[in-house]
Amino acid sequence: MKKKKLLIYGVISLTFVILFSVYTWSVLHSTDQVNEQRLNETMRTCELQIQKNLEFRAKELTYSITHNGLDQQTAFGELTSLLPTLDASSAVYYIVDYSGMMYDADNQPISGKIDSGALKAAQTNEYAAVSVPDASSSSPRIIIMVPIGPDPSFFLAQSITVEHFLDLITEDLSLPSENLALFDEWGNPISTYLDQSTQGSVQQSIYDGAVSYSYDRLRNVSLKVGALQDYNLYISVDQPRGWFIGARISYGGVTPFGLHLSTLIVLILLVLIMLFMIGLDIVNDRDKKKDWANVNNIDPLTGLLNNVGLRDALSAFIQKRPMNGFSFVCMDILAFSRINTMFGYSMGDELLRVIADDIAARQVCGTRINADCFAFLTKTSDDMLSLLESNFRAGIERRLGAEYQQMITFNFGVYPIADAKPLFREVYDGALLAHKSAKKQLSTHQVVYDAELKQTLELQKNIEINMMHALSKEEFQVYVQPQFDMPGEQCTRGETLIRWRSEFMGFLPPDKFIPIFESNGFIVETDFFMLTSALELLQSRLDAGLPPVTLAINQSRVTIAFPNYFERLKATIEQFSVPMEYIELEITESALENAWDTLVPLIHNIKKLGLSIAMDDFGSGFSSLNTLRILPIDILKIDKEFLRESDNSPRCKIIIESIVHMAKELSIRIVCEGVETKAQLEFLKEIGCDIVQGFYYSKPIPMADFTKQYLS
Ligand code: C2E
Ligand code: CA
Ligand code: CA
Repeated sequence: MKKKKLLIYGVISLTFVILFSVYTWSVLHSTDQVNEQRLNETMRTCELQIQKNLEFRAKELTYSITHNGLDQQTAFGELTSLLPTLDASSAVYYIVDYSGMMYDADNQPISGKIDSGALKAAQTNEYAAVSVPDASSSSPRIIIMVPIGPDPSFFLAQSITVEHFLDLITEDLSLPSENLALFDEWGNPISTYLDQSTQGSVQQSIYDGAVSYSYDRLRNVSLKVGALQDYNLYISVDQPRGWFIGARISYGGVTPFGLHLSTLIVLILLVLIMLFMIGLDIVNDRDKKKDWANVNNIDPLTGLLNNVGLRDALSAFIQKRPMNGFSFVCMDILAFSRINTMFGYSMGDELLRVIADDIAARQVCGTRINADCFAFLTKTSDDMLSLLESNFRAGIERRLGAEYQQMITFNFGVYPIADAKPLFREVYDGALLAHKSAKKQLSTHQVVYDAELKQTLELQKNIEINMMHALSKEEFQVYVQPQFDMPGEQCTRGETLIRWRSEFMGFLPPDKFIPIFESNGFIVETDFFMLTSALELLQSRLDAGLPPVTLAINQSRVTIAFPNYFERLKATIEQFSVPMEYIELEITESALENAWDTLVPLIHNIKKLGLSIAMDDFGSGFSSLNTLRILPIDILKIDKEFLRESDNSPRCKIIIESIVHMAKELSIRIVCEGVETKAQLEFLKEIGCDIVQGFYYSKPIPMADFTKQYLS
């Protein structure tokens, strides 16, 4: 994956994390704030309610006194007798005097003293609550005092347990009673009615490194303690004295841990999603690449790589490991089209798939170059080709049947790799060249690229480089081989044959460059060059009033099949005023194979222009008799192989004789080329051959020499 993409993912992830952190913080913070607000409200309501309850309690006390007709002056005297009627099962009543001394119902002083602060508070607020130690119990008792009369030097006091006190004042409050506790102004619990957690946290928060805490300080501490959801709420009971009720309160549905956990889960989810996306992206990338490869680099029929894919795979391979020890093999099936014609295209396809599967299974990398032509990289060994062949055959026999295996012949071209890091082109072209030459050979179907082939390859390259300028540099020369009429042995005609004297490559015979020109199409130019040269000679002789000569010009099968050939031919001859009966076009018999449809009308048209047609190398093709049957040819040139072999083969003589006879019957003139000996000449004369051509008379010679020697 690209760095840029990773960066984008990184930035997105980071943004997510930051945003989520901010969100979490703000949620926590705002929850904190909301809860603090609610806590304050609760505290305020509780304080008011408690105050109200205390006041109510105090008023109740006062009312009892008033209701029972107790006036302030006589109260002190009579109070003790009245006290028992003020029933409160848990309550004990006292009288407290101005100095804080306490007296019981029998007017006996009891231990303990109310301090002056409490007395003052009772006077100011018209009530006060104070805690005093209880000798009979480990927990203190609470004394609620109300001043008696307008001059409150005496106070009526009711003593109750802390628990009862808490019940009284927290009545109507929705505070959780199990967590309620009463604290004095120093933070000490007055009650034992206190659960451990509340006590602990208050104790710690109150006494942690400090001597004393003011009401405000205590309240601040109280707000901060506990988890987010739990608060220790300290409600002021009696402000001047600084008592507090402690209660543990819960707020909010989201616990901090819950929030952290959810944050964590969401973060993990985000990371997972991100990873998933990255993964998806990678897979996507890979799939895309695969798709691309499928569309562009895979041969749909066989599933092997195509040429582009092979080039990439092989180039990568060459970079990765030393290649000496490997061979690049190019292979095809001899006359594969026959399989298609005989058994149908689907069978042909299946055969290709069988071979492709074998290549895919056993070889390093392979391709189908085209049609039935495969190329692959394999380990070099002595029996490499026989092994390859037997594997292919076994596969074909197994999947298609023995009969198919038997009728198949493979052509192998091998490029054994000698360099550790060869060039792709070198390997590929080498194997291709070896394969090409294997296809041409009749005896063997296996050619290994070697020095000779390399030379051919280089020559081919040089030919292609130099051919373009050869025409303009006048490097091509027209040679003519004279032909002789029988039986008088006069030369009235000749065959033009091309020669190339290259500035860089020296003299080249036609069989070196013509196949290459045919493969790259340049033959069209040289054939027209030869035709024009012949026409020029004829024109010059005509213009000079010299006797004409018949010239046979070779036209390659590639030339005559070229688009607009006929138009170009017509245009060329129309530039001259040469009578067309002196121009003969030589077309090889094999040029007609598989091209009857187009070539038959072409030949008719050429004949209409007045040119003659010579069938070259007659007898070398597969359908010689058909040629005679269909085409209106003027001249028949017997393939020189018949004559060459006739010396030792009576059969060949019979064939030549028969062809000559047949041609005569069909009013076709016969040329026999390749005559090298007197005996051959005599034989040809004997059977009535019309025209002969061969080294016996002359090798091909430059056109100027030809005119000088034979036409003057
Ligand atoms: P081809 O058309 O069959 O030409 C006859 C070839 O036989 C010539 O070879 C000629 O030199 C050779 N030959 C003639 N008499 C004898 C003989 O007594 N014994 C032997 N052994 N050979 C003899 P060349 O000139 O090397 O041409 C070879 C082939 O190149 C020609 O075969 C023709 O197919 C092709 N070619 C030559 N010039 C041209 C051309 O201008 N255009 C085209 N398209 N092909 C040409
Ligand atoms: Ca010829
Ligand atoms: Ca010939």
